[in-house]
Amino acid sequence: MEQSLAEAVTAPSTRREDVDVAIIGAGPSGAVAAALLRKAGRSVLVLERQHFPRFSIGESLLPQSMAYLEEAGMLQAVVEAGFQYKNGAHFVWRDQASTYDFRDKHSAGWGTTYQVERAKFDELLIGCAAQQGAEVRFGHTVLGMSTGAAPVLDVADESGAQYRVHARFVLDASGFGRVLPRLLNLEAPTGLPTRAAIFSHVRDGLPLDAFDRNKICVATHPERRDVWFWMIPLAGGRTSVGCVAEAAFLDVPEAERETRLRALIRSEPTLNRLIGDAPFLMPVNRIGGYSANVERLHGPGYALLGNAGEFLDPVFSSGVTIALRSAHLAVKVLVRALDGAQVDWYAEYDVPLRKGIDAFRAFVERWYTGELQDIIYYPRQTPTIRRMISAVLAGYAWDESNPFVADPVRRLNTLYEACKP
Ligand SMILES: Cc1cc2nc3c(=O)[nH]c(=O)nc-3n(C[C@H](O)[C@H](O)[C@H](O)COP(=O)(O)OP(=O)(O)OC[C@H]3O[C@@H](n4cnc5c(N)ncnc54)[C@H](O)[C@@H]3O)c2cc1C
Repeated sequence: MEQSLAEAVTAPSTRREDVDVAIIGAGPSGAVAAALLRKAGRSVLVLERQHFPRFSIGESLLPQSMAYLEEAGMLQAVVEAGFQYKNGAHFVWRDQASTYDFRDKHSAGWGTTYQVERAKFDELLIGCAAQQGAEVRFGHTVLGMSTGAAPVLDVADESGAQYRVHARFVLDASGFGRVLPRLLNLEAPTGLPTRAAIFSHVRDGLPLDAFDRNKICVATHPERRDVWFWMIPLAGGRTSVGCVAEAAFLDVPEAERETRLRALIRSEPTLNRLIGDAPFLMPVNRIGGYSANVERLHGPGYALLGNAGEFLDPVFSSGVTIALRSAHLAVKVLVRALDGAQVDWYAEYDVPLRKGIDAFRAFVERWYTGELQDIIYYPRQTPTIRRMISAVLAGYAWDESNPFVADPVRRLNTLYEACKP
């Protein structure tokens, strides 16, 4: 008989200490990797230090991510969960505005997705993985690992009891926890300045025709082009709002964060009109220094997924998509390795994953110089170019038939010359 979601994620009474694959973290990359490994018939143990549901930032998905949810057998659960539908992005700066509809794009594939409260979304995904047979232990923290052909994890449960997990392979899906990069000194410079975000949820109470809820709104500060806001309508009249800037710009004592975010929202005309007075539904939070990178995304007996490997920047909502892409790619290589095949992790995992990350990176860097903003607002863009840009914004950053993926730096630089004011 099929287990219910609640039964499936309950901590087990007996511990299995030998497993094919141990996964650190039950966020989206860990959950999708776990489900895909179960589909391939592998035993999986997911160790998660928190209890779900728990808040997480990263609420606007990209359509490309739907393919990985589908592959992991999670699509029906996501579609039926009642999340806010999403089909594009609306950009606004002073009196300029530009809307991208992700259904009108260069690449084939999903053109729609969702805007999600991550507490519910992440719980749903890991529940699906558990239903497919992954063992999930909440409240279990990975403290250490010895690498090698047979890696061993040191784990502590909430009573403080420690135990060891012997795995044939470890996937680090610990997100900003960055467990293995820290333990194994894998950190590398990101080349991006230290930025921060302050954010919250508001009760928007907006009438249906006030704003297209099916789109994320990305608004640039009227005076500072390197400062921007997200407004992400969620289901049930709730909206996520945040401001991203160089860390010093948002450095206020915790007690003043709410006042600071309120003032910033009111300084941007579109946000002010829509949610200038909307009450905050939770304390204003801050996250900073989130950009991260590593020398390599794999090593003996392990690979890094999602944010445990790298994180660029929130501006194009690429985080969850990259996390799911990494799970999809890593599992393909890992299943072959577990079957005894010779695999080349660098050529089969690092290089192809970084291809798309580098396309996003080219977009992110030019966002903050203002060049990409000029491209986005350029009124005479051809439909063909718009569809290519739309495809990258929709997450299709690995489709090399798109010139802005195959050669992003050169293409964007050339396009900017044609669009600059
Ligand atoms: C300001 C901001 C806005 C963002 N907005 C978006 C957006 O709109 N759309 C988008 O797609 N992305 C967005 N992101 C990025 C997004 O948050 C991440 O990319 C995404 O959550 C990564 O998923 P993951 O599975 O790699 O890690 P996570 O979702 O972070 O999951 C990691 C899990 O590992 C667990 N863990 C950590 N350490 C340990 C340990 N020692 N032992 C056991 N478990 C552990 C954690 O508790 C956590 O549950 C944003 C990021 C920032 C900073």
